[in-house]
Amino acid sequence: MIDFSIEPEFQAKLDWMETFVREECETMDLLWPGNSVNFETHRSDARRHLKPLQEQVKARGLWACHLGPNLGGPGYGQVKLALMNEIIGRSSWAPTVFGTAAPDTGNAEILAMFGTAEQKEKYLQPLMDGDIVSCFSMTEPQGGADPGEFTCRATRVTNNSGEEEWEIEGEKWFSSNAKLATFLLVMAVTDPAAPLTERMSMFIVPADTPGIRILRNVAIVGDTDPEEGHHAHIHYDKVRIPADHMLGEFGGGFKVAQARLGGGRIHHAMRTVGKCQRALEMMLERAVSRRTRGKLLGDHQMVQSKIADSILEIEQFRLLVLKTAWIIDEVEAGRMPHGSARKWIGMCKIGLVKLYHDVVGRSLELHGSLGISLDMPLAHWYAGHWSLAFADGPTDVHKSQLARAYMKTTTPADGLFPTEYIPTRTAEALRRYPNAREA
Ligand SMILES: Cc1cc2nc3c(=O)[nH]c(=O)nc-3n(C[C@H](O)[C@H](O)[C@H](O)COP(=O)(O)OP(=O)(O)OC[C@H]3O[C@@H](n4cnc5c(N)ncnc54)[C@H](O)[C@@H]3O)c2cc1C
Repeated sequence: MIDFSIEPEFQAKLDWMETFVREECETMDLLWPGNSVNFETHRSDARRHLKPLQEQVKARGLWACHLGPNLGGPGYGQVKLALMNEIIGRSSWAPTVFGTAAPDTGNAEILAMFGTAEQKEKYLQPLMDGDIVSCFSMTEPQGGADPGEFTCRATRVTNNSGEEEWEIEGEKWFSSNAKLATFLLVMAVTDPAAPLTERMSMFIVPADTPGIRILRNVAIVGDTDPEEGHHAHIHYDKVRIPADHMLGEFGGGFKVAQARLGGGRIHHAMRTVGKCQRALEMMLERAVSRRTRGKLLGDHQMVQSKIADSILEIEQFRLLVLKTAWIIDEVEAGRMPHGSARKWIGMCKIGLVKLYHDVVGRSLELHGSLGISLDMPLAHWYAGHWSLAFADGPTDVHKSQLARAYMKTTTPADGLFPTEYIPTRTAEALRRYPNAREA
């Protein structure tokens, strides 16, 4: 049974969110613009404005909803979360206002899943309260995000007081928000000889630990100062942490890292839908407002084609994300086998980049010079599509994994010609119905 309706009670929450995001979060985008300003906890002006908004979200039970009930969240399930993220995606500040900003969301999830009681109390609670920022430090300057190439090592040592510690040595790249974080989750090789999925462990490294050397804060498009970005190139220079600062089991780093990705990827996908819908709204308004060659822009057929393609592509992708969310919920409920959602999540990750590129690009094009100017948000959004393409693993890798997953379950053709070879199939049909062609 397929049912696309939304319960009235939940629809009321979505309606409230829609108005709140348009009126309050989009206002914050205008007052405090910038790539990562929402993570700058020292910005007292923005924080002063933010806190009461977060309180309103909390009062309505809409705070940090990505956590399931076993982890202290409301347990809406992924379909409802997808619908919420569609609205959140309209605004850069909205994820912070709703306690769902990456990478803190994924970091909170793995702390909740794998953390000890002490780790949760010390790191998870303030993160959940929105009081601190965290960092996920995995990608390496040479190895990228391929764990098979990681060289950053953690070795067990004994300090002068005879206590067991971990010593981390190596470099990490694009560790977002490292300069603002209270703690970093660092993935390091603990057993180079082990099979790939057991080679690494995850560590909680407090930001004030000696030896964390930020070599540069790499800036990306949209940042104003090339020397003051938010993506750190870090040298962990013999960084020592207590033995109990491992998150999860020895050799469990891969598993921990995987656990933070699934939900996050479809949340990003649905936020992309929200952003594209906003770009479409702009496209439509422009089409019925601007005149050229004696008629409205929207009366030109190529403009209509752009609008129609955008409407269709947004709707198609939205359905893909909602189906994926539904599959995740079915897996969670035990009605589908574990792993059923993997290829669907991959499809969302692949599709979101193209949708964003095409829809935002068309909207920018329809606005002409105004579109590429910084008087409209479209140019920044358009440039940002590459960040979406790389964050959480490059699109090409996801495409490759998806194609291989399908090929793995495909049987090679039996004989010289494909199964669909018409002469063979016709011969088979005539064998079954020898008299079929008789007059
Ligand atoms: C905005 C942003 C924030 C980020 N935040 C973080 C963070 O907080 N923590 C963190 O650890 N990392 C972070 N990253 C890093 C991100 O995970 C990597 O950029 C991403 O995984 C790709 O790695 P790479 O940049 O080294 O590119 P590469 O791995 O070098 O890939 C570059 C290109 O090579 C090709 N390619 C690579 N591998 C394959 C393959 N297997 N098959 C076919 N083609 C391939 C693709 O065309 C790909 O686009 C962030 C990245 C961005 C852009």
